[in-house]
Amino acid sequence: MAKQDYYDVLGVSRNADQAEIKSAYRKLAIKYHPDKNPDNKEAEEKFKEAAEAYEVLSNPEKRQRYDRFGHTGGTPGGYGGGGMNMEDIFSQFGDIFGGGGSPFESFFSGGQRGGRRVSKGSNLRIKVKLNLQEIAKGAEKKIKVNKQVICSTCDGSGAKDKSSFHTCRTCGGTGTIRRVTNTILGQMQTTSTCPTCNGEGVEISAKCAVCHGDGLVRGEETISINIPAGVSEGMQLSMSGKGNAAPRGGVPGDLIILIEEIPHETLKRDGTNVIYDLYINFVDAALGTNAEIPTIDGKAKIKIEPGTQGGKILRLKGKGVPEVNSYHKGDQLVYVNVWTPKVVSPEEKELLERLRNSPNFKPQPGKNEKTFFERIKEYFE
Ligand SMILES: [Zn+2]
Ligand SMILES: [Zn+2]
Repeated sequence: MAKQDYYDVLGVSRNADQAEIKSAYRKLAIKYHPDKNPDNKEAEEKFKEAAEAYEVLSNPEKRQRYDRFGHTGGTPGGYGGGGMNMEDIFSQFGDIFGGGGSPFESFFSGGQRGGRRVSKGSNLRIKVKLNLQEIAKGAEKKIKVNKQVICSTCDGSGAKDKSSFHTCRTCGGTGTIRRVTNTILGQMQTTSTCPTCNGEGVEISAKCAVCHGDGLVRGEETISINIPAGVSEGMQLSMSGKGNAAPRGGVPGDLIILIEEIPHETLKRDGTNVIYDLYINFVDAALGTNAEIPTIDGKAKIKIEPGTQGGKILRLKGKGVPEVNSYHKGDQLVYVNVWTPKVVSPEEKELLERLRNSPNFKPQPGKNEKTFFERIKEYFE
């Protein structure tokens, strides 16, 4: 298939300047970005086409050759034929989107450090499941993650050996090129990213056989993650520098940890409070008893006073969940439910019948009795 003209791919004129070319490519890169077009082969092709066109037209030397010789570039094999791989394309992005508010900045940012671009590895996302105890106490989780690590064969340089890895001859290793132009206002100096080394300051003449010049390989790392007490479902923690590695001395990306809660069998979390529904029979409610209940720290005994009404809420202070990064800790609330038998035997029925009209069994709430609503409200204020 014949290649489309690079100017047509980007939709710019033959005498477009660098700013126009950059802006045209930026629009196409956003439109056809794989994150926005999952499993869309056509979009992927267009994305690669645009990247290839930009790669050539953004480089003055390559552009000049392309203008003169077309797609062959004046050399047998032209521009490599195979096109660019996704990694190459993404590594360009630091240049295109720079810093500051681009939609892909968090994924492919490349910051400027003293003129020489330092590449940044991509962020890595993992999920961590925690039970209620771990949430209440905080947890240290050791998690094995599969990620991009520095290639040990070339030490991340991407070069076959030391002799094939040298300072960029175009920029002398600074990663930038200064141009002095004469204008009517005098001499003006402009600085731009070195097109030969893409701002990295180094050139590779022979690639490492293991990582094919990427400087990175897939690897496993066991990461110890300290999760603070009080986290909740959907919360994201970030560990800077624990994401995918970056080649040639770059800065690794971040590890983003998404929290998932494993529900407790009997305790329900409500913010920083923990709720437990206790059921007692009406004899225990009338005469009082000791009940064993679950808490985050294990079993606990609580005293049920004689004459306890159904709907009473008992509070175990400080037995809840802490707030993240705070000294405040919630309580455990015990809702007392008085269980009414649903089925009774003839003997039980006889006993109950004898109690039915007993004077103390007649409900007699006092004037100062709180309403159910007031009781609930009191505990959530
Ligand atoms: Zn390597
Ligand atoms: Zn250079």
